[in-house]
Amino acid sequence: MPNQQYIRMLESKDVIFEIFARATERKRAVGEENVYDFSLGNPSVPAPDEVKEAVMRITKNTDPVELHSYSPAGGIPSVRKAIADDLNKRFGMSYEARHIFMTCGASAALAHAFRAVCSPGETILTFAPCFSEYETYVTGAGYRFKVVPPDPASFQIPFSLTEELLTEDVAAVLINSPNNPSGVVYTTKTIEKLSEMLLRKEKEFSHPIYLISDEPYREILFSGTDSPYIARYYPNTITCYSFSKSLSLPGERIGYAAVNPAAEGADILSAVFTQISRVTGHNGAPALWQRTAAQTCMRTADLSVYEKNRNLLLRELSSYGYSIVPPGGTFYMFPKAPGGDAAAFCRKAMEKDLLLVPGNGFGCPDHFRIAYCVPTRRIEKSLPVFRELLHTAG
Ligand code: PLP
Repeated sequence: MPNQQYIRMLESKDVIFEIFARATERKRAVGEENVYDFSLGNPSVPAPDEVKEAVMRITKNTDPVELHSYSPAGGIPSVRKAIADDLNKRFGMSYEARHIFMTCGASAALAHAFRAVCSPGETILTFAPCFSEYETYVTGAGYRFKVVPPDPASFQIPFSLTEELLTEDVAAVLINSPNNPSGVVYTTKTIEKLSEMLLRKEKEFSHPIYLISDEPYREILFSGTDSPYIARYYPNTITCYSFSKSLSLPGERIGYAAVNPAAEGADILSAVFTQISRVTGHNGAPALWQRTAAQTCMRTADLSVYEKNRNLLLRELSSYGYSIVPPGGTFYMFPKAPGGDAAAFCRKAMEKDLLLVPGNGFGCPDHFRIAYCVPTRRIEKSLPVFRELLHTAG
């Protein structure tokens, strides 16, 4: 008999992919340029030339059997070392190759991190607004999922609420900065305060509380944004990273988990990850893309269009009267829904071929997400629709 847990999941379909289906249908009917599709977080700029050059160099210069052979579960040793060296150089860390575990993107890094530091029945605490897939990742792995309500004035961490919800059953705290969906980046002050609270709670509960820091947007930062490297502030940190966004490689499934060398169990965690890989069938990230990442991890795609789009949208939408916490990075923005009901607002927008994602799945039903990883011209054309909607909304 098919597994009922997954059948139930089919019934609660992912709203983003429903919108995507609608977008596909409308693009066919009225032409792609007439649909303002701000629903998906798919990078809109090509991978840098260095990626293509690295792929060609690697395929030409590596023994063909070795090139396509199995990778060790944790990754190719020289690749792990290259990633560690790059992080040490950029962020003043002291990772060794053994602290880096190559994965199929950030989602697989998270899957390993959760299982490595939590036991079934324990709780993972995160903060709204949060990536809509977190609940599925966490509960699907057998953990309890708890969300701290947002501080909508800044989308920084609301510390008194966190203090209340950070109870003894919390084995890990999950954060995402720069944030999907708000684009907000946690400040140094926020991270210092969080670290101080976690250290205090670890003492109080006499067990470690790991900080799982999901950072696929780390490189998409706008000028003037204060962006601390989070693991520097808290020893028990596992950083989950992806090349999906920084190098525009979401289809290649490549990323890593980095265990802070100062973390409790740092020496064993990587070995624990390999066992999780066996159990989940992950068994190593794609070898060609590991080698490519090692040669290009210090580069990014040309990310400048995201800042240009952010500035345009923020300026125009604010001038119409939308209330928006200014994003410090990513390619998302999370305005307050006029009328207060984001689902109703997004339905109205959809009738005008403006595709937005209501904040319900992100833990904020009165906000909506704009993914502005689109050509700037598309944004310019959509502005009159945003303006009109504001005047007709609830
Ligand atoms: N975490 C966040 C916050 C994301 O936005 C995404 C993807 O959009 C992921 C994790 C998963 O990333 P990946 O494509 O690397 O698995």
